[in-house]
Amino acid sequence: MSQALLQSLRNICGQSHVLTEGDLQAWEMDWRKRTRGKALAVVRPGSTGEVARVVRACVAARVSLVPQGGNTGLVVGSTPDDSGQQVVLSLQRLRAVRAIDPANLTLTAEAGCVLQSLQEAALKAGFLFPLSLAAEGSCTIGGNLATNAGGTQVLRYGNARDLCLGLEVVTASGEVWEGLTGLRKDNTGYDLRDLYIGSEGTLGIITAATLKLYPLPAARLTAWAAVGSMDAAVALLGLAQQHLGANLTGFEVMGQFALGLVARHFGQLKVPLYDSAAFCVLLECSDQESEAHARAQFERLLEAAMACGCVSDAVVAESLAQARQLWHVRESIPLAQAEEGLNIKHDISVPVSRIPEFVRQTDALLEKEIPGVRLVNFGHLGDGNLHYNVQAPAGGDAAAFLRAHEEQVNTLVYDAVQRFDGSISAEHGVGSLKVGKLEIHKSPVALSLMRTLKSALDPHNLMNPGRVLRA
Ligand code: FAD
Ligand code: ZN
Repeated sequence: MSQALLQSLRNICGQSHVLTEGDLQAWEMDWRKRTRGKALAVVRPGSTGEVARVVRACVAARVSLVPQGGNTGLVVGSTPDDSGQQVVLSLQRLRAVRAIDPANLTLTAEAGCVLQSLQEAALKAGFLFPLSLAAEGSCTIGGNLATNAGGTQVLRYGNARDLCLGLEVVTASGEVWEGLTGLRKDNTGYDLRDLYIGSEGTLGIITAATLKLYPLPAARLTAWAAVGSMDAAVALLGLAQQHLGANLTGFEVMGQFALGLVARHFGQLKVPLYDSAAFCVLLECSDQESEAHARAQFERLLEAAMACGCVSDAVVAESLAQARQLWHVRESIPLAQAEEGLNIKHDISVPVSRIPEFVRQTDALLEKEIPGVRLVNFGHLGDGNLHYNVQAPAGGDAAAFLRAHEEQVNTLVYDAVQRFDGSISAEHGVGSLKVGKLEIHKSPVALSLMRTLKSALDPHNLMNPGRVLRA
């Protein structure tokens, strides 16, 4: 049976695009290198029509499919299980920008388009596509939409869902839904687009999307501020919103220990102001007028923040290169954490107003229950989203720590998130890592509705089975 399917897949995509031998690690191993599966084959169709034919062939053979974009997801959602029976459907070859409509401020691109090339295509046409995350050199727009990715500009422009107007999808039965509308208003029944966005490949395969473009700002300015506490960081956010309004496009918080890891492991990077402050904040302002206007706004904001005592010291980047360096420090935190050793990651959100109390209580709880734990806290404070991570005690055996405490740490953190009316996955999705936790923390009614949708749209359970919902 497998041989017959493989032959059909070769007939559809061509011999060289059905990989069964050689080193398939790039498709079989997750980005964090925590899990390696075994694929029946990696298939790389070259068009939407080929994707549809691949799906129909797999459905006929009752073989399940794992859609994959850049394989940068952090919840083990885009790699096969270890059965050797799943087909990885890579969208890598679908990477054309199909159209740009300047008057409608839209761009239509195929799912495998790498986010950075999409940003560049928008820029070349004189526009901004604002979705931005540290994985942008490898992740694809299809993967961004399938996970409803967030990133560093959500505060102003929203997450991937907010940036998408239309989709083209190959359904679980292998039909093509042509929903590539560029409409900003369309109330004609259930919103199928929003159903597929964030479904992590469990309902169908996104093959193209029509996305929103924005005018390029005249200037972008970055500042770095030292704050004494998370309360002060939230107070600064309020002030920044008052002073900058919609010009505030980024607001990231970084704990002292997190920045200390960057300083320790990437000595060539200059990490400003961190040794004297509990937290640092990275602010970005985008201005439609001029750099001088942006700078004046920033200066007034920082004066007000120092006057009220929520900021102790601050620097405003003098050049684009300096701004990039500041962002580079922020983006290096996950890598510095990896250098420091194995760790436990959480991607949580709670209402911004409750973040300081959440951090206070949860820090205290973890430190009491597991003496010596080191808390790596950073994230998109403007969105109420923290990467609230836990590093093993210094000098110990990190692998043994994870074996002994990972489950306990997760339970402590996610129970706290629930007490604070938050979410256990703010931007990375559920994948296979958080399926069990979702069952605990999502309401039974919501889970039941999700299962109803899954079985209606994917009756044979062949679309990324076991991800988001238990198989
Ligand atoms: P993949 O990893 O290939 O897939 C992710 C999921 O989507 C899987 O379930 C897969 O089956 C499904 N999928 C992929 N393509 C399709 C498709 N065309 N149709 C249907 N399903 C599909 N995420 C954030 O939200 N914000 C961040 O700030 C952020 N920062 C990151 C930084 C780093 C260094 C790394 C490594 C990751 C980061 N991520 C972040 C997570 C990840 O980059 C995003 O989730 C990204 O959107 C995944 O895109 P991808 O193309 O790599 O998808
Ligand atoms: Zn993030």
